[in-house]
Amino acid sequence: MNTQLEDIVSLAKRRGFIFQGSEVYGGLAGTWDYGPLGVTLKRNIMNLWWRTFVESRDDMYGVDAAILMNPKVWQASGHVDTFTDPLVECSECKGRFRADKIDTSKCPTCGKAGTFGEPRQFNMMFKTNVGSVEDENSVAYLRPETAQGIFTNYKNIVDTLYPDLPFGVAQVGKAFRNEISPRDFIFRSREFEQMEIEYFVHPASWQESFDSLLTDIHAFLENLGLPKDKIHELDVPESDRAHYSKRTIDIEFDFPIGREELLGLAYRTDFDLSNIQRVSGKNMEYTVKGTNEKFIPHVIEPSFGVERMVMAVLSSAYREDEVNGEKRIYLALPEHLAPVKYAVSPLLKNKPELVAKAREVYECLKKKHRAVMWDDNGNIGKRYRRQDEIGTPYCVVIDFDSFEDDTVTVRNRDTTQQTRTSITDLLS
Ligand code: ATP
Repeated sequence: MNTQLEDIVSLAKRRGFIFQGSEVYGGLAGTWDYGPLGVTLKRNIMNLWWRTFVESRDDMYGVDAAILMNPKVWQASGHVDTFTDPLVECSECKGRFRADKIDTSKCPTCGKAGTFGEPRQFNMMFKTNVGSVEDENSVAYLRPETAQGIFTNYKNIVDTLYPDLPFGVAQVGKAFRNEISPRDFIFRSREFEQMEIEYFVHPASWQESFDSLLTDIHAFLENLGLPKDKIHELDVPESDRAHYSKRTIDIEFDFPIGREELLGLAYRTDFDLSNIQRVSGKNMEYTVKGTNEKFIPHVIEPSFGVERMVMAVLSSAYREDEVNGEKRIYLALPEHLAPVKYAVSPLLKNKPELVAKAREVYECLKKKHRAVMWDDNGNIGKRYRRQDEIGTPYCVVIDFDSFEDDTVTVRNRDTTQQTRTSITDLLS
């Protein structure tokens, strides 16, 4: 099915997944707020990532570094000088655009031709001041990536946990970029979250780690329920890679807006740690236990964007079909990602004995699965439609037969099939 971006945006808003940031004041471009369903979906994705790449492995360590960092971090990393996008301004309507994302022969807003001059480099870092004095010496930046908070803690981890190479350090958290044209819903935001790993390796064995991380990435994407045929590897040619990167693979996804970058996997050599060593004057060498061989480790960096994962999951789960001659919209989310696993309701909400029995089942299911919703609004048909749209895999309905044989109706989101199930089986 060819899902449109408007369908996703509209469902996300209608059902409390994602709202425009500061909407009540007219919004703030490039910012988005996650509502009750959205925050759970997003956390389910982030938790799955953390479990997969950190908790279930012996070679990964987690960190949670401060967002505000010493500005030397961004000088050493090259962000102050080169974290830029080419900006053009239309002399007619004053619209500003990223030169590499539009056809600059004609302004996309006012349609006038030949109104753009030469692009200038626009730094995407948000500047702020730390402390009570606002001058050059108090300038700091909101981090534009989580990666540098990992590099600056590399030595702390080596000195406190003595890991053997290869090992990785992972971080999940907010990143901020003053994108020239935030667009396409949450795809290009000014505030977003990243899930990044710096995987430290012996320079001689980078390829092995690169390949195995690539395999792990594909397994994770499969676990998110993303269809294999929508995922593509782009081996970034040397001319498009950062000068220090020996190999970069962008994993692209067929979003409703077209094929775009979902995440990146880059071999960054020893660029970052060498820069830190040069600017800080602190030794970043790793000493191999036993042989005493010393070198600055090389790094493989998988870099995931949470918003792009959420958008990929929502757009591949979006379905439309027809039930009883009416159009139905549902989200075929994998069960482990669905914000609500079960919705429980009494067939009729004005029958106290049905409500009491349904409450009992609800309390037990909630204890077991936590993500269980009580839903007695409207008639059963309306409840099913609402739960379909938020991707709830099962709706449980308690009716008068439940008193006879201790069974309930369990309705399946994808097939709409209803089956009688014993309460004991449901709760076991
Ligand atoms: P793009 O070319 O799309 O601007 P990028 O190559 O600059 O992306 P990276 O710097 O490699 O992106 O960032 C790593 C990941 O962070 C990206 O693959 C993406 O998932 C996510 N990301 C980057 N910028 C944004 C943004 N403005 N909004 C949402 N996610 C983003």
